[in-house]
Amino acid sequence: MDTIKQACRTCKKEFWVIKQEQEFLQKMSLPLPTSCPGCRQTRRLKERGERNLYRTTCSKCHKSIIVSYNPKIETRQILCKPCYLDWFEKNPVLLTQPL
Ligand SMILES: [Zn+2]
Ligand SMILES: [Zn+2]
Repeated sequence: MDTIKQACRTCKKEFWVIKQEQEFLQKMSLPLPTSCPGCRQTRRLKERGERNLYRTTCSKCHKSIIVSYNPKIETRQILCKPCYLDWFEKNPVLLTQPL
């Protein structure tokens, strides 16, 4: 058994299924994944309909807010919705960042 190259059904990107994963899937009698790890995670999050939520404060107005990413590892400034919209209007950026 070797590493298998699969094409993601969702984003068409190629990804690898490593030996250990194949062995695990076989043990659990599961089929090979048809989506890349990124898409699988996105789908899982959608299915569960929940995310990790963190309480933090807005970098601008210091209001207490709840965000869906870890503020400890987040390098961008953390803004509440009104501050973000305000910032966004002044700094138009392309929303190309993947999840
Ligand atoms: Zn994908
Ligand atoms: Zn704010």
